[in-house]
Amino acid sequence: MEKTIIDVLKTQRKFQLSADSKNINNRISALKRLKSSIKIHEEELLVALWKDLRKSRFESYTTEIGIVYSEIDLHIKNIKKWASPKKVSTPQIIHFYSVSKIYKKPYGQVLIIAPWNYPFQLLINPLIGAISAGNCAVLKPSEYTPNVATVLQKIIESAFNKELVAIFLGGIELNTLLLQQKWDLIFFTGSPKVGKIVMKAAAENTTPVILELGGKSPCIIDKDANLKTAASRVVWGKLLNAGQTCIAPDYFMVHKDVKQKFMSLLADKTETFYGLNAKESEDYGRISTKENVERLSKYLIESEIYYGGEYDIEQKYFQPTILNNVSYNQPVMKSEIFGPIFPIIEFDDINEVIGYINKNPRPLALYYFGENKKKQQFVLTNTNSGGACINEVVMHIANHNLPFGGVGNSGIGSYHGKTSFEAFSHSRSVIFKSTFIDIKLRYPSYSKFKERLARLFM
Ligand code: NAD
Repeated sequence: MEKTIIDVLKTQRKFQLSADSKNINNRISALKRLKSSIKIHEEELLVALWKDLRKSRFESYTTEIGIVYSEIDLHIKNIKKWASPKKVSTPQIIHFYSVSKIYKKPYGQVLIIAPWNYPFQLLINPLIGAISAGNCAVLKPSEYTPNVATVLQKIIESAFNKELVAIFLGGIELNTLLLQQKWDLIFFTGSPKVGKIVMKAAAENTTPVILELGGKSPCIIDKDANLKTAASRVVWGKLLNAGQTCIAPDYFMVHKDVKQKFMSLLADKTETFYGLNAKESEDYGRISTKENVERLSKYLIESEIYYGGEYDIEQKYFQPTILNNVSYNQPVMKSEIFGPIFPIIEFDDINEVIGYINKNPRPLALYYFGENKKKQQFVLTNTNSGGACINEVVMHIANHNLPFGGVGNSGIGSYHGKTSFEAFSHSRSVIFKSTFIDIKLRYPSYSKFKERLARLFM
C-alpha cells in the first residue's frame, strides 16, 4: 500500500507542475465531471447511506447530496472571479512607482480525511474547495461507513485520473501511513482526539492543517424564548442523524421558570416527528456502532429519565431521551454525547450559564433562544464558539456565505463557499516595481539626515 501511495503522490506532484493544472477551465471541467458522476451514482449513494446509517432519503438528500450540488454550482460560477489576482493599494511614498497584487496559488497536494457521520458530504465538500483552488487531492473516507466508501470510490474513480484526485479505503493503519507522507495541506474532519494526532504528524513537515473537530455545543433556552418554536427546532437539530451531528445541540441550559413546559414540549415534538415509537419510524436513524449504543446507555445510569431511555444494542437503536436535573459533574456532561440524549440543566441567572461555557473548551456551535435583543447580544459578546445561532440550531451551516469551522478545541480554520476557495489557496503577495527611478534612501551608508527622512515618511 505504501508504494501505491508514494506512486500516486509522485504523479500528482508531476501534474501540479504541468500547464494543465494551472488552467482554470480545467478546474471547472473537473467540478462538472464530479457533479455528473455523483448524479450517475446518486441512487446507489442513497441506498448506501440507508445501509450504513439508516438515513432517510430526505435527510440524505438535504444534508449530504443537495449541499454538495449547491457547493459545486457556486464554485463553478465563481472560480474565475475568486482566482483572479486582486490589486491592492500601495503606499507610494515608500514604494514609488509600484503596483501590489495578491495571487491565489494552490497549496499543491492535499490530504482530506473524513468521519462517518456525514460520510459523503464531509469528504466531497472539502474536495470541491481543493479542486476549485487548483490542488490535487488524496481522499480517505471513514472505514465505519463501508457502503458509502465503496460508492465514493466509484464516483471519484469515474470522474478523475489519479494524478488529480485519488481515493484510498482503509482504517487507522492507512491513515497513519498517509499521515507519514509529505503534504502541502491536510484537511481533517473528526474528533479533537484524532485532530491532535493529525496536527502532530503535520508538524513534522510544517504542513498547514485545517481541523474540523467537535465538542459539546450548548443550547440556552431563556425564559422569554418562544418555547414551541424552540422545541421544534431543537428536536429536529438534535435528532438529525440520531444525534450524530458535530453541531447538534449537545446539552440544554433552560431557565427554571420554563423548564417544565419546555421538557414537555420536547417530548411532544419528538412524538409528533417520529411517532410514539421512534424505532418504527422510517425517518429516525441508527447509532453508528453497537459500542456507541453501549457508550450512550452508560449516560442513563443514575440519571433522572424524564422521557425515553430505551435502547437495543443489536439493532443499534437508541430512543430519543430527555434527562432531567442533570448536574455539571455527571458523565453525560464530560464528553461530546453524539447521540439522541437531551441533558437538561436548570438555571436562574444567565451569568452562571456564561461562566460555565467559558470554563470549558470553546464549542463548535452555541445556540441561544430568547426574544430580547440585548440579551442575545450579551450572550454573543461574552462567549466564543465556532459558529452560533439565535433562535435556531444547526442552520448556520446551510449558508455558504458564513465560514464554517471551530475555534480552539473545536477546530482550526474554516470552509464553505468562497471560504473554501480561500482555505485551499495560498495568498501570494507580489509587488511589481518600475526601474524608471531608484530612490537611494534605503541603501547604506546611513546618516542622521537619512534617518530623519525615514522618520518623516514612516
Ligand atoms: P474520528 O476522529 O474517530 O475519525 C475521523 C477519521 O480519523 C476517520 O477517517 C478515522 O479513520 C481516522 N482515525 C481514527 N482514529 C485514528 C488514529 N488513531 N490515527 C489516525 N487516524 C485515525 O471521528 P469520528 O468518530 O469518525 O467522527 C466523530 C467526531 O467528528 C465527533 O467529534 C464530531 O463532532 C466530529 N465531527 C466534526 C465535524 C466538523 O465539521 N467540525 C463534522 C463531523 C464530525
